[in-house]
Amino acid sequence: MERADETFDAVVVGSGPNGLAAAVELARAGASVLVLEGAGTIGGGTRTAELTLPGFRHDVCSGVHTMGIVSPFFRELPLEDHGLVWLQGGASVAHPLDDGPAVMLWRSLEQTAEQLGRDARAYRRLVEPFLRDPHALLRDGLGPLRWPSRPLQFARFGMTGFWPSTWLGSVVFREAPARALLAGCAAHSILPLSHLLTSAMALMFLVVGHVEPWPVARGGSAAITDALASYLRSLGGVVRTGRWVRSAADLPPARAYLFDTDPHQLARIVGDALPAGYRRRLERYRMGPGVFKVDWALDGPIPWKDATCLEASTVHVSGTMEETAASEAAMFRGREPERPFLIVLQQSQIDATRAPDGRHTGYAYCHVPSGSTFDMTDRIEAQIERFAPGFRERILARHGTSTAELERENPNYVGGAITGGMADVTQFFTRPVVRADPYATPHPRVFLCSGSTPPGGGVHGMCGHHAARSVLRRLERAELAPLA
Ligand SMILES: Cc1cc2nc3c(=O)[nH]c(=O)nc-3n(C[C@H](O)[C@H](O)[C@H](O)COP(=O)(O)OP(=O)(O)OC[C@H]3O[C@@H](n4cnc5c(N)ncnc54)[C@H](O)[C@@H]3O)c2cc1C
Repeated sequence: MERADETFDAVVVGSGPNGLAAAVELARAGASVLVLEGAGTIGGGTRTAELTLPGFRHDVCSGVHTMGIVSPFFRELPLEDHGLVWLQGGASVAHPLDDGPAVMLWRSLEQTAEQLGRDARAYRRLVEPFLRDPHALLRDGLGPLRWPSRPLQFARFGMTGFWPSTWLGSVVFREAPARALLAGCAAHSILPLSHLLTSAMALMFLVVGHVEPWPVARGGSAAITDALASYLRSLGGVVRTGRWVRSAADLPPARAYLFDTDPHQLARIVGDALPAGYRRRLERYRMGPGVFKVDWALDGPIPWKDATCLEASTVHVSGTMEETAASEAAMFRGREPERPFLIVLQQSQIDATRAPDGRHTGYAYCHVPSGSTFDMTDRIEAQIERFAPGFRERILARHGTSTAELERENPNYVGGAITGGMADVTQFFTRPVVRADPYATPHPRVFLCSGSTPPGGGVHGMCGHHAARSVLRRLERAELAPLA
């Protein structure tokens, strides 16, 4: 329990990137903030640990920070002064194909377009309009729905991004490489590629690749939340670990409570303090499919048939657009895909601190039905072997993580869902429920700040930032009192 005389303006439950971002924003405005983290270490989805062998530092969850490096909020903060170093490869994505070289998302638009043959012009036409003011697009896109600062750019993005990515790929491109590149980026949405809005994810990831190659954090993803926590402490904020909050009685008096949790937990913890109708809507919130992840200690780099893959921070492994679409459709129908779409990282290729000299870390995950108990290790390794023969011979040790293990380590990952909830057309704009201010709840002192609010999953801190702004609009009027 807190000491009785210890009071804070705000208590944040959870120290993921959004919880800490919210705490930082509040502390910057002069509020006193306490962060209560249930796990033994801070960071939520950004933890780093020696999962396989001593000296191999693996990213337990997030590995590549497409949105972290361009996050309008992170860019405002002195995170470099608190130890964060982004490391970038020459390219963001490599997408190996069975017949022909891997298609690459290079930083240069020209270099990327050139390799796409007959689709070069179409690729330029698709992406270039958003490169004139990409940071405005990010400011407009990474938050709740509101009037954008660049309405024309945003409307064009919306009109292109609204469509299913399989449709966009078939209409805009004529050949397999460009279609495969688009599909791999779209598959980060964890939705069937035939769903509306999957093009928005693809387009945003392609645009960012030309602004800042998708980076890893030096030393591991934990460096991101370590930097946030260090900055927070320099502003007077307090972080405590090993403090699971299971009911309102676990919370000290405060003017505001922010939950870096999934909506189901919010409903359980705050319970009767929320109106029954709102609670029911939180309980109905859909978390979406899960993931199965494998980490490897390797005695050399992944032996990709096309060694250019080693220049990218991320390798999308699945082959053609049709194969990627089939994998995502199968998992959405409740079946573990035979040939899963993989997100593969080899952080040690960019960051020498991750593994002993000459050795490497490998990381891959695929999408599976929510709560799946199937061990995907064999299928994941077979997919990598397909494009990197001899991969299995490089494995010194492996560590698999099932949907249940993900949820055990972090209760936000319900059924292994990693993005704060399904981002389909009905939940994309209305996370967690339809409300003018999605961060506020009917209780004047209770707020949600996790990836279950706009703009959704990923390590960018924007959910926390917007939630804190919502709190600050109300803080002065809020009384200091216990929640229970
Ligand atoms: C395998 C995997 C791969 C991923 N890859 C990427 C990637 O490459 N790039 C990317 O940007 N994103 C990636 N993500 C997603 C990213 O990690 C999340 O979107 C992000 O961490 C969400 O941040 P958050 O602050 O909303 O929540 P979380 O990171 O989930 O943090 C919530 C915190 O709250 C704590 N908590 C929860 N409930 C309670 C409670 N009742 N009491 C006290 N504490 C509590 C948790 O322990 C946790 O520390 C990945 C996630 C996973 C699992």
